Amino acid sequence: MFINGKFSSGYASESIPVINPATEEILSQSPRGTTQDALAAVEAARQSLPGWKNTPASKRAAYLHQVAASIRDHHEELVRLLTQEEGKPIPENDEELWWSEETFDYYAELGRHDRGQVIPPGAPGQFNFVLKEPWGVVACIVPWNYPILLMAWKVAPALAAGNTVVIKPSELTPLTTLKLAEVAFDHLPAGVVNVLTGFGPDVGEPLVTHPDVNMVAFTGSLATGQRIASLAAPQMKKLHLELGGKDPMVIAPDVELSTAASGLAYAALINTGQVCTSTERVYVHESIYSQFTEELAEVVSRLRLGNGLDEGTDIGPMIRAKFRDKVISQVEQSVQAGARLVWGGRIPPEFERGYFMQPTILVDVNHQMRVMQEETFGPVIPLMPYRDFDEAVRLANDCQYGLGASLMTQDARLVKRFYEGVQAGTIWINDPLTDNFAGPFGGMKMSGLGRELGQEGLDEFRQVKHVHWDIEGGLKEYWYPYG
Ligand code: NAD
Repeated sequence: MFINGKFSSGYASESIPVINPATEEILSQSPRGTTQDALAAVEAARQSLPGWKNTPASKRAAYLHQVAASIRDHHEELVRLLTQEEGKPIPENDEELWWSEETFDYYAELGRHDRGQVIPPGAPGQFNFVLKEPWGVVACIVPWNYPILLMAWKVAPALAAGNTVVIKPSELTPLTTLKLAEVAFDHLPAGVVNVLTGFGPDVGEPLVTHPDVNMVAFTGSLATGQRIASLAAPQMKKLHLELGGKDPMVIAPDVELSTAASGLAYAALINTGQVCTSTERVYVHESIYSQFTEELAEVVSRLRLGNGLDEGTDIGPMIRAKFRDKVISQVEQSVQAGARLVWGGRIPPEFERGYFMQPTILVDVNHQMRVMQEETFGPVIPLMPYRDFDEAVRLANDCQYGLGASLMTQDARLVKRFYEGVQAGTIWINDPLTDNFAGPFGGMKMSGLGRELGQEGLDEFRQVKHVHWDIEGGLKEYWYPYG
């Protein structure tokens, strides 16, 4: 762990093995942190807060640019390590690291731009302004699927705003975050960034309930988000929650079939479908449904499964066998209820080790099936035909989640109906899953609270104070007595 600028196993007496999902080998061990470790990390972050909060924004910006530069200096090494612990192919981890580096540069600049605004007074002689202040100590609780990117989307704006942080990486993927502490956070004043390893109930919950943790920024499953929200409620703690998704994609009849099929394969299968914004439900216009399904099967049949470290691998393993079991059970349940497997659906027999799963295409699905309602978080593409565009929008909205939604079309009228009608935090037209540093990211409905990235992603980490100043300070006619 990395607490108050020092590496140690803290109070941990046990360790947690970190497993390479492509080989099932133990890569390393990380300390199983305890409540005392959580207390120590919060104390370090609390002690360093006044110094960091009062550091001039331009100096904080220099520190953050240095974090970005240090990650870049170790880029290849970090990409390799991330591939070993998380499993997705090198090109995807290369992109994850690039995004993370750029995020620190982006918030370095945004964080020194303003601290609020001057607003028009209600009467002459008054001065009104809005201050945006750091919350204080922020717990950043991160999942395993994008351990560095999702950490950066929290830590960069949190630090830019003047908060100090305790990072809690997933127990499945702590290694790259710890390496980053060694190579990229080491130049920061001690205690400004701390990394606490261990299981959620052991170290995550003490962070959420600690009175000195002023904000919890969490990305993970809906169930854990609900647990965190209930634990934080008695203290009315500021929450930022990025939760699950069940993103739809609508394929309009005007598309070029092979282009749309390639876009869908990417959106559904990147990181073996283990992306919060994976396309998990597909609605295809009935006039092209069969042809499009064939085209998609053709694209998917060419994809190569393998170890993410091997050149030419398109799809790596899933993170663990138990997550794959859940995906297989969703597929089997759909087939029992009448769905048809067009491709995949099984554990690939050619691998003796590793948590691989064949990319899977399902047709004849309906909204009563779990595969069209529950988050799958695996390489499954279920397709349903639709008759008219209103029906497509209705089906897209028929889900508890509202994270992202994609449309493939060149028809501007459909684009407008889609972005106005679909309840999702991000709408992608013809280019699914592409983020933008300045574009806020987050979910509607059960997909969460708040936004990351953009100005909104900085403002999440700042609380707002309005100052009303009557400069002359004389008696007011609206004070007592009314008579
Ligand atoms: P998870 O909820 O199991 O764990 C996420 C993190 O929370 C881990 O660090 C875990 O140790 C910690 N945690 C677990 N229980 C806790 C508790 N009681 N208190 C405090 N912390 C606790 O999620 P996961 O399996 O790591 O990640 C997959 C999930 O994350 C999927 O549901 C996916 O949709 C979601 N996700 C969402 C986004 C988004 O931006 N909306 C992005 C990526 C992943």
